[in-house]
Amino acid sequence: MDPSGTSPESLTMNSPALKPALQVRPQRAGVLLPLPLGGAYDYILDSDAPRGTLVDVPLGPRRYIGAVWRPPDGTVDESKLKTAAPLPGEPRLPESLCNFIDWVSRYTLTPPGLVLALALRVPQAFAAEVSRVGYVRGTAMPPRMTPARERVLEVAGDGMARSAAALAEEANASPAVVRGLIDAGALAEVALPEFSPFACPDPGFATSTLNLEQEAAARTLCGAVASQRFSAALLDGVTGSGKTETYFAAVAEALRRGRQTLILLPEIALTVQFLDRFAERFGCRPAEWHSDLSPKERRRTWRAVMKGEARVVVGARSALFLPFPELGLIVVDEEHEQAYKQEEGAIYHARDMAVVRARIENCPVVLASATPSLETYVNASTGRYKWLKLPRRHGAAVMPEIRLIDLRHARAEPGTWLSQPLREALATTLAAGEQAMLFLNRRGYAPLTLCEACGHKMTCSQCSAWLVEHRYHRKLICHHCGLDTALPQSCPQCHTQASFIACGPGVERVAEEFAAVFPHARMAIASSDTMHGPAETQAAIRAMTKHEIDVVIGTQIVAKGHHFPQLTLVGVVDADLGGFDGDIRARERTFQLLHQVSGRAGRAEKPGLVLIQTRNPDDAVMKALASGDRDAFYEQERVYRERAHAPPFGRLAAIVLSGADGERVRDCGRMLAKAAPAGRGVKVWGPTPAFYQVLRGRTRERLLVQAERHVDIQAYLRAWLARAQCPNAVRLTVDVDPVSFF
Ligand code: ADP
Ligand code: ZN
Repeated sequence: MDPSGTSPESLTMNSPALKPALQVRPQRAGVLLPLPLGGAYDYILDSDAPRGTLVDVPLGPRRYIGAVWRPPDGTVDESKLKTAAPLPGEPRLPESLCNFIDWVSRYTLTPPGLVLALALRVPQAFAAEVSRVGYVRGTAMPPRMTPARERVLEVAGDGMARSAAALAEEANASPAVVRGLIDAGALAEVALPEFSPFACPDPGFATSTLNLEQEAAARTLCGAVASQRFSAALLDGVTGSGKTETYFAAVAEALRRGRQTLILLPEIALTVQFLDRFAERFGCRPAEWHSDLSPKERRRTWRAVMKGEARVVVGARSALFLPFPELGLIVVDEEHEQAYKQEEGAIYHARDMAVVRARIENCPVVLASATPSLETYVNASTGRYKWLKLPRRHGAAVMPEIRLIDLRHARAEPGTWLSQPLREALATTLAAGEQAMLFLNRRGYAPLTLCEACGHKMTCSQCSAWLVEHRYHRKLICHHCGLDTALPQSCPQCHTQASFIACGPGVERVAEEFAAVFPHARMAIASSDTMHGPAETQAAIRAMTKHEIDVVIGTQIVAKGHHFPQLTLVGVVDADLGGFDGDIRARERTFQLLHQVSGRAGRAEKPGLVLIQTRNPDDAVMKALASGDRDAFYEQERVYRERAHAPPFGRLAAIVLSGADGERVRDCGRMLAKAAPAGRGVKVWGPTPAFYQVLRGRTRERLLVQAERHVDIQAYLRAWLARAQCPNAVRLTVDVDPVSFF
């Protein structure tokens, strides 16, 4: 399997044979701990250990697992140093992962220990393996035979090791009978593996015949995998064009060459369907990595990745920090998704960091999307990335027809959200026995509740945000902090009884209207409030696929990735509701989202129709959607961004200050702005109150650094922050390449 002839273990675990003989003398080394410290601390090791070796060390009253990181700095007297204890099996992070951690730390200005923590987030992964024992037929004969004993020995006679309980059950004997045979030496103990090992995906299990464009793209990707060198490619294809099918060819190539593959997906909800699809192609499921795993599964997967037993891992962004010893391919599916940005703790963009890891690993990275981020689009069009295009849907499916409905003329009665043309299209679709999807990117019943008598708006007590009415939960909920309250009997301001009115639509309200117009249609609401967790989402998707539902009304939870063969109509209830105001990527994001939603229609033989309700039919985004001219939109967007010196033509970093005491936060913001060094090609904006000025009771102020492309923005930030001391009560976070401007 491994063409180089080295077993995966030898690359990560220090097998005894490879250790230099008799080098057991105390050494010092800098050990990095998974904590927000400035750097590594010196410890005494009882033998020479290479970088990445994991050790157990004391710090204050606690013990931590850390990694040997750098040569000792030698400033602390040897007698004061504490000793690091080795771990069973001497696990070691691959050198490339250590380099990646350092790189991410420098780029994002995150303390290296916090980045290391992303790689070590595996409870008990380093404890000695609890050995499970099984039993086979031993050499001795029991002094006395009974029918039960005979049955047990007969079962054990096949040579397969079984646990005592399994033996008893299979032989229909009591545990005491088995125990007696063990004591008599008639059953012999053997060690069982901790878990059944990961199955190895079979590259030739069920190959599909690729069409011409897919074949050409696959050939390029396979060549890149075979070269075992860094390269980046944009796999650019409309939804349903077979991007997945195509990069599976590259995964197969990596498998054949004995290399590991990492496939990143933006959301867990997409992972579940993906695992089955992978199994259909490769004969078994890949290893998975996301927040929904139990600690036991995590431990098992982490170790299997490190030992090279897990050949393909599918996961969310944190999978980027797994200890692959022989990574040969990284795929970032739906590369434009904002979910790739980690917004808390270590703030990083998993798509960008995937490219970095690929460069460090010297392997190719494939970014797949129907609507790439402008950054990736520019990289592809300037030739920095290979640009692999799949312009057609596979097979009979054609792209849907997209029409705009001008809400300024087509609006029905006030307080309703489905225009006459949309209602007619729904009726036609239902009459034909086909399915429809209504899309609205807003959870709950209504985004705003106000008092009809005095105009008082119901807002969150912790956040500067409206409370959203949820009829399904019978509550007003803050979408920022989760705070919920019952709708009060009377207005908190003017005390008028039952004076509240709901303003604007959420999916629940659209569903109410739909049910009134089409009382016999089978309808489901799909949003994160009505579906709890991936399993419920999965059940709803299955019901839709099996046509147990006629119409699904949902938020972006249903907009992405899913394939419903009978779905021929998509209605976008309010296209102007991107919710991305004040964001340099507002147009791009609206385009991407609506394009994704539209892509749900007509994925099989029947042609699809998409109706987009808007008050701005002349807007560039709407026009590009209706004409299907995606690249015209990108070219225009590129010009806008270039003129504004916005990414990727300029660089941005945000500094967000937050704290319970608003005045101190504002003071700190002013102090920081004053301390900003003058720099060529650098401008500092702010401080200004953040879009949501208060969140969870904490006041937020933002500063924005805008720099020309050639500027080392990290160096600038470091120099700046070294000059300014924030009080402890104010938290400062640095967000390099921000994607959220709230
Ligand atoms: P994308 O990832 O671009 O949205 P998919 O890879 O999911 O596209 O393909 C869309 C559908 O077409 C899937 O059901 C897939 O199985 C099918 N398909 C794509 N290419 C082929 C092919 N070469 N042979 C058979 N089926 C294909
Ligand atoms: Zn709130």
